[in-house]
Amino acid sequence: MSAGTSGDEPVARDPKDYKIATKLAHAKTSVTDPYGASAPPLYQTATFAQPSATENGPYDYTRSGNPTRTQLEEQMANLECADRAFAFSSGMSALMCVTRLVNAGERIVTGDDIYGGTSRLLAQVVPKVGIEVVNVDMNDHDAVRAAIQGGNTTMVMMESPTNPRLQVIDIKAICDMAHEKGALVCVDNSIMCPTFQAPLALGADISMTSATKFIAGHSDVTGGLLACNGEELGNRIYFHQNAEGLHLGPFDCWLALRGLKTMQLRMERQQENAMKLTAWLESHPRVNKVNYPGLKANVGHELHSKQASGAGSIFSFTTGDVEFSKIVVEETKLHKITVSFGGTTSLISLPCFMSHASIPAEVRAARGLPDDLVRISCGIEDADDLLADLQYAFAVAEKRVGKA
Ligand SMILES: *Cc1c(COP(=O)(O)O)cnc(C)c1O
Repeated sequence: MSAGTSGDEPVARDPKDYKIATKLAHAKTSVTDPYGASAPPLYQTATFAQPSATENGPYDYTRSGNPTRTQLEEQMANLECADRAFAFSSGMSALMCVTRLVNAGERIVTGDDIYGGTSRLLAQVVPKVGIEVVNVDMNDHDAVRAAIQGGNTTMVMMESPTNPRLQVIDIKAICDMAHEKGALVCVDNSIMCPTFQAPLALGADISMTSATKFIAGHSDVTGGLLACNGEELGNRIYFHQNAEGLHLGPFDCWLALRGLKTMQLRMERQQENAMKLTAWLESHPRVNKVNYPGLKANVGHELHSKQASGAGSIFSFTTGDVEFSKIVVEETKLHKITVSFGGTTSLISLPCFMSHASIPAEVRAARGLPDDLVRISCGIEDADDLLADLQYAFAVAEKRVGKA
């Protein structure tokens, strides 16, 4: 409900109805501070003294809970419109925790174009404890339904858009299929963040975000977050966060809280830059394909526009020539050759040789991840400078390899 009057009494807007930008600037927390500090207090401590031998205070040991972490977890729950959120030492430990909700003999269904680290976790770690993992093309709904119904499926782990091909998956449709079977759905929302996409509102049970990327936003922290609704699920996640020591340390929580304040501004600027670069790439004769859901010509554009409010700042493209792609990646000056994404600096990479190298070559080929695929994550630089940088690298590549 918007601010206004009910009868004669002025009614302030309910903080629950604040838009994300406002929620980010006004972090919500139950942690009280006697001095009214404007920045979140950092409790860099492992232990907390207890009121007496027989009474427990609100915190005793940082693995079990820490006020700085509480602030981050409550703020994330607020942004996700979730009951609870949990902060982990990395995106991977957050995903590891999700797999702990699955027992031996049960099945996890996941996509065939997923983050390299997730692919490795599901292919090489999770099967060790007797969990079955089935990869399917998440856009082939008959295949997804068959995979979910075909085994003892208790978890579906998905991403949309996927990385690095930016395939858009119908989150709501997959959630409906999983719930028919009584399975939980975890959506990896690292590329969109709560700024652009709300997985829980689309039906997911767990929303996962790598805080290493846009949340911390300055390439200085690794962290991961899970947000969920319902007491039982929250308690199960908390149990594993504590029992396995998967939590994020206080200072990293503090950095993530600091990063969150400017997330909306960064994400909007980064998205604007991506729109400009993809528009240029799309019309370039050397570029065969641009994967970016923000382009009208993209197969996922319509679906993505329905389930997200922005296309984000990550895209990829192919040039048809590995050598050409390699020169482009190496000749850009402002785009640093770095894995990851979501920082303030623009990054460029050849995923098959970097972030996705842990996926065996034959699996990559089967999943349509060509070696000439270039991925860019736009930073917050000036768009014209970024475009000129890319144009320069293309010109060098054309000179060395020849025009298309
Ligand atoms: C980076 C990333 C992860 C893993 O997060 P870390 O913080 O690096 O452990 C998981 N999923 C996606 C989509 C990512 O981009």
